[in-house]
Amino acid sequence: MAKVTRTIKLKFHNLNKVKQLLFAQMTAENTRLANELLAIPYVERREVTTAKIITPLKSALANQTIRHTISATGRKVKHYKCLPPEINKQNWKLEKRGDTYSLSFPTIQGDKRVPVAIASLHWEPILEQTLAGEVEKGSVKLIYHRKRWYAYVSVTVDVPEAQAQKRVGVDRGQNNIAVVAPAQGFGKFHSGKEVMHRRRYFQKRRKELQEAKKFRALKKWNKKERRWMESVNHTISRRLVRFAQFHEADVAIEDLEGCRETMKQSKRNRSDAGQSRHSWSFYSLEQKLGYKLAMEGLKLVKVPAPYTSKSCSTCGTIGHRHKHDFNCPHGHYHNADLNASHNIAQWEGFYCSLELHRDAAVMVSSATENGLLGTAPSLMNDSLRFRSE
Ligand SMILES: [Zn+2]
Repeated sequence: MAKVTRTIKLKFHNLNKVKQLLFAQMTAENTRLANELLAIPYVERREVTTAKIITPLKSALANQTIRHTISATGRKVKHYKCLPPEINKQNWKLEKRGDTYSLSFPTIQGDKRVPVAIASLHWEPILEQTLAGEVEKGSVKLIYHRKRWYAYVSVTVDVPEAQAQKRVGVDRGQNNIAVVAPAQGFGKFHSGKEVMHRRRYFQKRRKELQEAKKFRALKKWNKKERRWMESVNHTISRRLVRFAQFHEADVAIEDLEGCRETMKQSKRNRSDAGQSRHSWSFYSLEQKLGYKLAMEGLKLVKVPAPYTSKSCSTCGTIGHRHKHDFNCPHGHYHNADLNASHNIAQWEGFYCSLELHRDAAVMVSSATENGLLGTAPSLMNDSLRFRSE
């Protein structure tokens, strides 16, 4: 059975002042403890047990923090601004009374059961599975985000094994963020026009804020753009998955890694946010597409990028591309982006399948985006960084 790890965000429902304060105290104490531990040399830190440290945190929580500071990600950190408390899988429980879900876990004032609200209806089946013990539980993090408290619950669910015979190709670009098509026949376009327009608007304001040296507002503005991008990517990936489901096919995409170095783009185009290929987070689109497909028993494969936009999808000859048009010497005409996605779908050579395990890890770390963990996860750094000019 294939598995996919997902992070479910549950908002604490009608959280009173006392509990808000309690969670804040726990976070502060957890951060303090983590920083205290980081001051100890790594070799000695590995020997630390809950018996040797003084903290009001329950040993289950403290233990998790110790484990975190000696883990591969935790040991690289020098100092935490904020480290959210993490409850390991044995110590939390999901319950349901009436229609209300609640989460129980240890706090600094004994075990608490706190009601949670679900942000999105499509998570309900997963929660029901969790109640029934059908999913593999992961840990829970208490996250403070935009003045509200959330529980980020990680669970691993079983998904059907991928066994599709066909493939649809997805071409990603600027004029069309994504064009998806089977090897032959009609495709679907996801235009980038509105996106370009919106990005120019974001860029304009960013420039203004930068010139006025309003850095705090600038940071907020960047986060806003990022959230918007993420939501667009969620929508597009969901639609691509529906298209793939309709065709009962896996999805093939171009391997864009290193595209920044090899793809030529004029300086003028690059400095225009609407046109720039640099900062649209295709990486995040890829991630979202990957796990959404896996949930449906389909897979995402990568094919090498060269020639997909240069050869004719009807006869395979190298043709001429001019803006949106593609003409081949044999008189075949195609829309350039559609032609590329046909080519990607037709690719018969070697391809590599995306590792879902890596996706899961990224998702876990993306749960602490916006610098909540003090450091940006290195995997996300490159593809999601904003260019400031
Ligand atoms: Zn042709």
